Amino acid sequence: MARLRGGGGRDVRLLVQGDSLGPGMERMLLAAWGLALRGHEVRWLGRNAPRAAASPEARLVRDHHEPDRRGADIVIGSDRALGAAALSGWRAGAHGMVAALDPARRKAWSPLERWCWSSLDSRAMVEETARDLASAPASALEPERLESWSPEAPPEAPEIAHPDVDRLERACERSLARRRGEGLSPAVFLDRDGTLVVEKGYLADPDDIELIPGVPEALYALRQAGYPIEVISNQSGVGRGLFPLSSVHRAMGRLRNLLRPYGVEIDAVHFCPHLPDSGCGCRKPGIELLERAARDLRLSLRQSVMIGDKLLDIRTGHRARALSILVRTGYGRDEERSLGGAGIEARPDHAFDDLAAAVSWILARERVGRWE
Ligand SMILES: [Mg+2]
Repeated sequence: MARLRGGGGRDVRLLVQGDSLGPGMERMLLAAWGLALRGHEVRWLGRNAPRAAASPEARLVRDHHEPDRRGADIVIGSDRALGAAALSGWRAGAHGMVAALDPARRKAWSPLERWCWSSLDSRAMVEETARDLASAPASALEPERLESWSPEAPPEAPEIAHPDVDRLERACERSLARRRGEGLSPAVFLDRDGTLVVEKGYLADPDDIELIPGVPEALYALRQAGYPIEVISNQSGVGRGLFPLSSVHRAMGRLRNLLRPYGVEIDAVHFCPHLPDSGCGCRKPGIELLERAARDLRLSLRQSVMIGDKLLDIRTGHRARALSILVRTGYGRDEERSLGGAGIEARPDHAFDDLAAAVSWILARERVGRWE
């Protein structure tokens, strides 16, 4: 998630309608808090706001006043106060609403509640066991607007790595992607270590995140040109037991927070925590993460570009049929030297000294990708 991208070049902001997250809605409350822990900018309106940030990366602002127009892109609430959530969303100029929902109540919605639901691009978070009920004719919720919570029990306290936060993050991304219209967009997929940030080997401490010079400006230029920015990262340190999943989320949150002053929001972060020999499909050069991002954010892989400092990033791009670019930061220069013995699948379409040079080249073209 992910950082979400708003329309018109503005930052994406999440507005939580706290008054609608009273007793019984703790699952949504904790997941929304988890988004703030991951470095998303979250404004919390009304009651039930968390009292203190639980990590230095948390980006949570308590607010007792409705934000003005263009103050948020997504409003988060529940069906306990659907009208209040929708009203806050309209006032903030939000495009979408993600609401925790009890499908059993749906049949009894008033005409006003139904209208509030349909007045924004709304998505429902339901218990997994209630999905069938929610898509039953009597409830009449479109299946594509249904998202389920994880099968895991909700946490006692906010947890940055809890799968419920993933589920809510993806729901917000999908809601935002719909605003781009029906067509598929090209995107820029970026490796993290050695491409965006200085390679430090199994980086886990957020304080070790150090942007490579020129990266913020390059990402800003990409974003202004309308390219969704997707970070795709192998984080096998988790599988190796070197650091927990929460460290990866905290480091990604730090990356978001370092980029925000430059006007850059990352549209989505996807990473593989598994060991290289785990046989998973999500570790690069597997393309499962790119395919997942493409589904969620309505992207065309073939019109997209993959940029990284390793030959496995290049293989990933080729397998996804995207344009593959090697940067000579991180391991890039050494990887380029080793190309002599590498097969055609590892050969980049282009190589540049750093991300800034790669982005300048991309933006000088009418479009990226193979588009053959
Ligand atoms: Mg790398």
